[in-house]
Amino acid sequence: MRKLTFLAVVALSALLLASVATAGKIEEIKQRGVLIAGVKDAVVPFGYVDEKTNKLVGFDVDLCQAVADKLGVKLELKSVTSATRIPMLAQGSVDILAATMTHKFQRDDVIDFSITYFMDGQKLLVKKGSSVKSAADLAGKKVGTAKGSTSEQNIKNAQPKCTVLSFEGYPQAFLAMNQGKVAAVTTDSTILLGLKNSAANPNDYEIVGNYISDEPYAMGVPENDSDFRDFVNKVLVDMWNSGEYKKMYDKWFGPNTNYYLPLDWKMETWPE
Ligand code: GLU
Repeated sequence: MRKLTFLAVVALSALLLASVATAGKIEEIKQRGVLIAGVKDAVVPFGYVDEKTNKLVGFDVDLCQAVADKLGVKLELKSVTSATRIPMLAQGSVDILAATMTHKFQRDDVIDFSITYFMDGQKLLVKKGSSVKSAADLAGKKVGTAKGSTSEQNIKNAQPKCTVLSFEGYPQAFLAMNQGKVAAVTTDSTILLGLKNSAANPNDYEIVGNYISDEPYAMGVPENDSDFRDFVNKVLVDMWNSGEYKKMYDKWFGPNTNYYLPLDWKMETWPE
């Protein structure tokens, strides 16, 4: 009898363990009561520390808050960089990413992506009066960007004759330009606008050239959990249809902000 009870306990524990192992992200997050989101912490206006409150704020942060609200859980933020974000999600140290991250097929191997929630493209930031007016002018020159970004690869394709210096983040690349170590900083135009317009003297800089790439941003979600991915997509589509998205977009990128980017694309939506 005692042996039987023991066996039953073993079998029950195995069953419980299996159900935990196969439980999806949604259940895991709800049980925990917290959505752990990876965001940037030095990319104005997507994810950065508000000097007054010392809190992480930004468009990507608001988006994560919306997902947490729809799940009925609290939000916990973890800082990620362009290089650490995908490994952190793949290893499970965050549940979701909203981190200025472009959806590329090359990035699909270890994580999955939501539908596109933001659209931008890559440009150059230079000091006003610079001889660099486009990627063509970067031949033989140094350009700064962030390690692990699409910007690193795109600029090499656009101008194979430039030297790319990759920093941990964009503020470091911007500092290098101010110190005369690189002739330009390159990445998505709104991130460049964030660097320029949050600097002490925005008029000392200009954003130049045509877009050298398309950068559709998507939220990163764990590989092979379609229930969670569907949930996140539904949150985005509902926000788009209800006007909540536009409100949030205008808060950070509207005409009355320092980071104006006209909303000239439409989210992919589908009927209920
Ligand atoms: N959107 C680009 C990327 O995902 C550049 C911005 C970034 O480094 O986060 O790589």
